[in-house]
Amino acid sequence: MRTFKLAAAKQSLKLKVTLITTLVFLFFCSGLGIWGMKYFKNSLREAAYSQQFSFVESLAGSIDGKLGIVQDSLISSAKRFSPELLKSPDLAQQFLDQRFALLDIFDNALFLFSAEGALLAESPYREGRRGKDFSYRPYFKTTKATGLPQICEPYISSINNLPATMLTAPIFDSSGALIAILGGRFNLMTNNVLGGLAELKNGKSGYVYLYSTERIMIMHPDRTRIMKNDVPVGANILLDKAVSGFEGSGETVNSRGLHTLVSFKRLKSTGWILGANLPTEEAFSAVKTASKSFLTAMVLAGCLIAISIWALMYRLLAPLTEMVRQVTAVNASGDEKQVLEGFSRPDEIGLLARAFNKLLKKLTQQQQIVRHSELNFRALADNAQDGFLVTGRKGEILYANQRATDISGYSINELRQKGLETIFAGQLGLKVSTKGSQTLCEAEIQCKSGQIVPIEFSIAETKWQNRSSSLITFQDISEQKKINAALRDSQRQLSEIFEFLPDATFAFDNNGKTIGWNRATEEMTGFLKEEMLGKDSSFCSIPFYGYRRTILCELLDQDFDDIAAIYSNVTLAPPTISAESFCPALYGGKGAHIWAAAATLYSSTGEKVGVIESIRNINELKETMAQLDKARQAAEAADQAKSDFLATMSHEIKTPMNGILGMTQLLAATDLDSEQKDLIDSVLLSAKHLMSLLNDILDLSKIQAGKIHLTHEEISLPAIISDAANSMRPLLEQKQLELISKIAENCPPVFLGDPLRIRQIIFNLLGNAIKFTEKGRIEMRLKRIENENAILFSITDTGIGIPQDKTEQIFEVFEQADNSTTRRYGGTGLGLAICRKLVTLMEGRIWAESTPAQGSTFYVALPLQITAQED
Ligand code: ADP
Repeated sequence: MRTFKLAAAKQSLKLKVTLITTLVFLFFCSGLGIWGMKYFKNSLREAAYSQQFSFVESLAGSIDGKLGIVQDSLISSAKRFSPELLKSPDLAQQFLDQRFALLDIFDNALFLFSAEGALLAESPYREGRRGKDFSYRPYFKTTKATGLPQICEPYISSINNLPATMLTAPIFDSSGALIAILGGRFNLMTNNVLGGLAELKNGKSGYVYLYSTERIMIMHPDRTRIMKNDVPVGANILLDKAVSGFEGSGETVNSRGLHTLVSFKRLKSTGWILGANLPTEEAFSAVKTASKSFLTAMVLAGCLIAISIWALMYRLLAPLTEMVRQVTAVNASGDEKQVLEGFSRPDEIGLLARAFNKLLKKLTQQQQIVRHSELNFRALADNAQDGFLVTGRKGEILYANQRATDISGYSINELRQKGLETIFAGQLGLKVSTKGSQTLCEAEIQCKSGQIVPIEFSIAETKWQNRSSSLITFQDISEQKKINAALRDSQRQLSEIFEFLPDATFAFDNNGKTIGWNRATEEMTGFLKEEMLGKDSSFCSIPFYGYRRTILCELLDQDFDDIAAIYSNVTLAPPTISAESFCPALYGGKGAHIWAAAATLYSSTGEKVGVIESIRNINELKETMAQLDKARQAAEAADQAKSDFLATMSHEIKTPMNGILGMTQLLAATDLDSEQKDLIDSVLLSAKHLMSLLNDILDLSKIQAGKIHLTHEEISLPAIISDAANSMRPLLEQKQLELISKIAENCPPVFLGDPLRIRQIIFNLLGNAIKFTEKGRIEMRLKRIENENAILFSITDTGIGIPQDKTEQIFEVFEQADNSTTRRYGGTGLGLAICRKLVTLMEGRIWAESTPAQGSTFYVALPLQITAQED
């Protein structure tokens, strides 16, 4: 992600800045230079043009001047010539020979022609030429025709066959008639006034030449070209222009193909064209040199500038380079806590570095957030109950959570190698179902062990590491499948149980639709399940009653009275209610008494899902109960008769027994011998026993007959306990038993109760304790049970104890813990039965706890009725 290709950028930045700056500089400099060079070149050219033209102009002036002087000399000599001299050729010859100055000027070539053109004399004299006719020569013709001195067009001298030009001066007589012509000839092949031009240099390799308007070369350094017309029209454009009258300088390609700077000026004296020729190479060598120097300077300046800018850039970019180095180091190390150091400078680089550090900090924070959220995600994913698979577009597995590896048995790396298709074995998308808003599919995956595991999965589009991917969430539904199968089995079993229930049973859902109608119901009503399922509950009353009415399962939420209004013997035992009724339509209209029980059906989450009702034919039961009722009534009457008899008998026996007892006591008080005394004591003891037994039977009969009425008087339990202890003291002493009484402080001293009956209970329990204890002690306790608002009396002994299974039985009438008890200890087994009945009448409880051979504790809990005063 953080790939900073700054090393490359660093190089290119320096290079780029250096190159661009250098190029810009060079561009402007070279532009300036080229412009300067052009200006300089133009100036130089113009200077060369004007310089060369000035040279040509002054040279033409000089030639004109010289020719003028020469012509003047010739004219003045002609003026000195007298007509008499014509008469004598020798005199004429002499005249010419004495013209030393002219001879010198004209290379010893002076001529004197007659007015007809015959050669009169020539100096130096040449044999046989005198009288030769030269009247055909243009110089003669022109001079004779004009009567004016002439400088003639060149011609080939008849003397030496060399090119020459003739200057003429006419000689007139006193009447003004032309009598002769004086001529001076310039040999163009020698260095005279004209021929000297051939030797004149223009610059190093330049030259000058004379050209006639007739396109004849008059003078040229290459003298072979003199008198030749070897420059055709068009071969030298500027020369053509000069022939047409152009004067000045210009550049042209001469007839030899050489680039030259040429200047032309016409001689005033002859109209000839004086041309100066200089190869442009030489003429503009300064420009070339300057260009070369300029280029060299530019290259040097460019290099210098490049080096300077490079050095400057290096210096300027040094902090940037350092920053890049640090950034690269940070990037390479991957250590998030690193920052760029040493950039406290106030300039842009310092700002950049600080901004980078801030950015780095933010990046680190964001990375931490991302990491935390990733860790959280992984923690969540790895602890999820569902398997997660993140897959790429081609089905490659990018991520799998712990659960996915647990289910498949493959490690994450193995899953990545296998890919989705292999694991799902091409079954993706099978059995599509929906659960809520989620689309779920069922498939099977092949685990590493080879086992095929059924799964349920859903697919959602997601992004994983910036890639478009899919999140597959799946669950192992093996257990669910087993549960479903078990559920189906149990439903089938339940349904079978329901079907085979002996009682007619039917059920309704929350909408009152019949969802169950078992076989017994079919038999009872004659209505089949197929016709009843789905029917309203109100319709279901018809098979039972023959008309629509409310049935018991529809009254589950009603009050007792509402149910009792249409049912008899209603019993509310939530969540069930039961009741009886007569259904006239049952058994084909025979009708039957039924006992019905209804209850609500709940789901596992406690929601009501329907109601169920079970109906039992109680025709037989009713009959049996009626018979039983009769029998019970007869038994109760018999029992009552027995109790009455017992009570009467006891009462009747008590009267004579009182007499016997009283008489026996009186008899015992008389003087009797010891044998009689023993006998009387035995009679007295037996009579007392019998009396006690009669009292017990009488008590029991009274209680059973409901003839005992308890009183509510203020009693003091501590006083009763103390009284009982005192009464039993002789017996205790006789058996050497210790008696302890403990009365708790929270015990109220006085409360409401029946003192006689409570005394009877305490005496009975204390009597039993003493009776069944041979040694040790007896402890009586009294305390208040706060949370029950009751009083608890307990009596503990260290006697023979009672077997565990007998501790309840001993409270029954005539029940004793051991068959030998009567034999060993006497008694009737009525005492505790009377105690329980009395305690029950008092709405209290009595029970025993005991360990055989260790002792017993009897508890009596009585509701506490505190006196108003106490309250
Ligand atoms: P009786 O004592 O006259 O037999 P009770 O009803 O008082 O009749 O007692 C019933 C039986 O309970 C006794 O026969 C005896 O077996 C057992 N029993 C009662 N109190 C004790 C006691 N404190 N220790 C051991 N056994 C006792």
